[in-house]
Amino acid sequence: MTELDLDVRWYEGTRSRPGRTGPPIQVHRAAPNTIVLRQNITDNFEAPFLYLLFGDERAFLLDTGATADPTRFPLRATVDTLIDRWLHEHPHDGYELVVAHSHAHGDHIAADGQFTGRHRTRLVGHSAEHVAAFFGIHDWPHGTARFDLGGRILELIPVPGHHPSAIAVYDEDTGILLTGDTVYPGRLYVQDFPAFQHSLRTLCDFAAGHPVAAVLGAHIEMPARPFRDFPLGSTWHPDEAPLPLAAGTLQAIRDATLLNDRPGAQRHANFIIWNGPCRRESAAQSVRLLLSRALGRGLGR
Ligand SMILES: [Zn+2]
Repeated sequence: MTELDLDVRWYEGTRSRPGRTGPPIQVHRAAPNTIVLRQNITDNFEAPFLYLLFGDERAFLLDTGATADPTRFPLRATVDTLIDRWLHEHPHDGYELVVAHSHAHGDHIAADGQFTGRHRTRLVGHSAEHVAAFFGIHDWPHGTARFDLGGRILELIPVPGHHPSAIAVYDEDTGILLTGDTVYPGRLYVQDFPAFQHSLRTLCDFAAGHPVAAVLGAHIEMPARPFRDFPLGSTWHPDEAPLPLAAGTLQAIRDATLLNDRPGAQRHANFIIWNGPCRRESAAQSVRLLLSRALGRGLGR
């Protein structure tokens, strides 16, 4: 498998509203054919991670971030530059780009419009029906589909629960499992709990049969200190937990969902499950955000 470098210091943002540290999009080359991009947290507190994977025939972009405006969030220009650089080293006529999504929430699809009309580019639709049709998943959400980038096979796994059209993407070349908002070091917002339980089972079964080098989600909302989280909405993340999770975390989340299926928040060392609307927890988060801004502390209380 291709070796990965996932040891990154992501920009931590700023405690006050105006001001920015770092570029609008932080670009990290985890491997020559694997790029991790992150939207600047001061532009949008969601600070989503996006992934750009290169094969011989086509590139695959997973997610388009939280901001449509190309002057604030120049995703198309960044991706074009990265593809040009790749093609300079690996010349190929008719190289394609496929733009897919971990799921269709606004912070993962906002810059889709930057790619409309781009030459040799296919955009995957947002509904489960569109995703299933594009990749040829005939019995959604059961089964998986393989998608060939040219000498690099991706496996697409339906994982509804956070969102009806959510998918995970496994890359045979590097062993990364991209899990979107289904699994990441943060608050896992579960909209459909039985579907989420089923999807975690699917992911655990998949990981048991495939070498998973790292589980990479779409956000970080926790600090390195276990059991804590940054206040919801915070644009300042000092000392964030690392992005990669071990494959064993899938089983830990699954076990947690089997032990406790009651609505509300349940806090674990490196993930937090929010089952349902969690109104009390949301209200507490708003207070924490105000306090953290007033007191200048990253975590609030
Ligand atoms: Zn998200």
